[in-house]
Amino acid sequence: MILSKFNIVSKLKDKDEYFILNPLSSNADIIDKETYLKITNNNYQDIITDLIDKGYVVEEDKEKVLFEEKYKDFIDKQNNDEVQIFFAPTYACNFACSYCYQKEYSNEEQELTSEIIDAFFAYTSKKLGNRRRYITLFGGEPLLNGEKYKENIKYFFKKAEENFYKVAIVTNGYNLEEYLEFINHSIIREIQVTLDGVGELHDKRRKLINDGGTFEKISNSIDKALEYGISINLRVVFDKENAEGLIDLAKYAKNKGWTESPNFKTQIGRNYELHTCFANKSALFSRIEMYQKLHELIEKDRVILDFHKPAFSISKFIIENEGMPDPMFDSCPACKNEWAFDYTGNIYSCTATVGKQGEELGTFYPEVIEFEEKIEEIKGRNIISIKECNTCNLSLVCGGGCYSVAKNKTGQVKSPDCRPVKELLEMGLSLYDNLYNIENNNNYERNNCCGI
Ligand code: SF4
Ligand code: SF4
Repeated sequence: MILSKFNIVSKLKDKDEYFILNPLSSNADIIDKETYLKITNNNYQDIITDLIDKGYVVEEDKEKVLFEEKYKDFIDKQNNDEVQIFFAPTYACNFACSYCYQKEYSNEEQELTSEIIDAFFAYTSKKLGNRRRYITLFGGEPLLNGEKYKENIKYFFKKAEENFYKVAIVTNGYNLEEYLEFINHSIIREIQVTLDGVGELHDKRRKLINDGGTFEKISNSIDKALEYGISINLRVVFDKENAEGLIDLAKYAKNKGWTESPNFKTQIGRNYELHTCFANKSALFSRIEMYQKLHELIEKDRVILDFHKPAFSISKFIIENEGMPDPMFDSCPACKNEWAFDYTGNIYSCTATVGKQGEELGTFYPEVIEFEEKIEEIKGRNIISIKECNTCNLSLVCGGGCYSVAKNKTGQVKSPDCRPVKELLEMGLSLYDNLYNIENNNNYERNNCCGI
């Protein structure tokens, strides 16, 4: 019997307590220092029965069998999961955001036409057969002004309805209210809009091309959408320039009553490092820095948690569900559960690559061409095919990361994009364990290993 190669063992941030978890056996426990030292010093004979029960100590062959079984389950699930199909009707935008990666993309002379829209629906319907799917309109800015453009978008929605697709929209929100007047609300799955802060802080970063502010108009369109019962996913692009404003934004959303709405959710993300242009690269957070900052802000003012509960890897999941998520053999949905298409007729893997020269995987218009070899290589990327992940104890939580980031770094599709899983768990389990203890008047029953 040996310690499982998938154990993740470490200390909770700012506490004299430790944790052990194993994504393959689906167990997680808070342990004391003595147990931690026994495990890490390979001196655990007196607690071995408990460790075997939880799958922290295993027979190597049996663990291999379990790994294969769970991998098979994962692939079955992946093959039956819903597919998200991005469509970029333009790369043009009415905003000039300080950090926009798409500035570098030329907006081709070519325009969106009903013929291209027809070709898109014909291709996706044929390609995906009976698989569950939905479309996400993306850009550039998909909700632009201009009569001809709007006619095309109306036609797009008509075709989506005919083909029984729900449509999500990723928009800057500026023209949203106007569009909500004519889009059939029942077809809308969700609308993602971005606010980077309150008032001036947002306006400084996300202004109109002609320099005007945009905060008020976006805030009003969020009110309107929620009034209509449409789901809003509010995104904050979070970096060193606006981090401190997050508390104000959380208070603003709370005062507006947004956080009370069942149709309101949030996401906090870093700007893409995938593309060349962020005017001030030093303002970007690394993944770990972003979570460190969020942790610091939450400690400062818990109002942030009313607005957004960061995942800290799988910490939030574990505490909220009092259990482990399924093992993650592949965290990149590109070419499996995610595809992207644009108005020029090109096919891409996902939002990270859409519109990027050299990343095309074929065309759906004017004729269907698929670059099979490239597609198969992306499809085949997971923690089994990435050499470095084979021996990594974090693999079943990390899932190998993003193929596009990995390829940008190494030139190879099957290379790792490492996630700071251990550090995020140290922070997240400590934070959420504290919170749930407080919320439950310290009566929260923790699942302590080895009777401790
Ligand atoms: S390549 Fe990156 S951005 Fe694209 S689907 Fe994979 S993880 Fe997501
Ligand atoms: S990408 Fe890095 S951290 Fe993630 S599983 Fe692979 S080697 Fe481990």
